[in-house]
Amino acid sequence: MATERTLTIIKPDAVAAGHIGDIIKIFEANQFKIVAARLVKLTKKEAEGFYAVHRSKGFFESLTTFMSSGSALVIVLEGENAILRLREVMGATNPANAAPGTIRKLYAASIESNAVHGSDAPETAAYEMGYFFPGIALI
Ligand code: ADP
Ligand code: MG
Repeated sequence: MATERTLTIIKPDAVAAGHIGDIIKIFEANQFKIVAARLVKLTKKEAEGFYAVHRSKGFFESLTTFMSSGSALVIVLEGENAILRLREVMGATNPANAAPGTIRKLYAASIESNAVHGSDAPETAAYEMGYFFPGIALI
């Protein structure tokens, strides 16, 4: 196992519902270390750039409207096997399918408003960290 960095976003639904602290507590309980954080309110264009890989999907318009609807907390997490482990701690995209105790099971309201983002592979983690924290991947 290797130490990795991954990008997570506490999405606008979870920020608005007052779950920043709850979710960070879960990150810390699972041995993730915060190495960078920014509270942002994405423009529609920034949300579209971030989710460019989903541009052809039917939910793209709705997703990028949601992601630009309010404050979101963007965080770089570091830890052993961080990319895969974060995905496990987050739970399935659809909270109806998320395992008990996962962040999405606890705090997500729907498949779209699902509380958190997490990078899904080393290449996407590098792109996503660079998108919000230019330069940090070079340290
Ligand atoms: P994940 O965030 O689990 O990696 P995806 O990369 O497939 O999931 O999708 C990105 C985001 O788009 C999801 O987290 C969710 O907010 C939204 N999304 C995914 N699938 C749907 C869907 N069928 N309907 C509405 N929104 C969706
Ligand atoms: Mg994804």
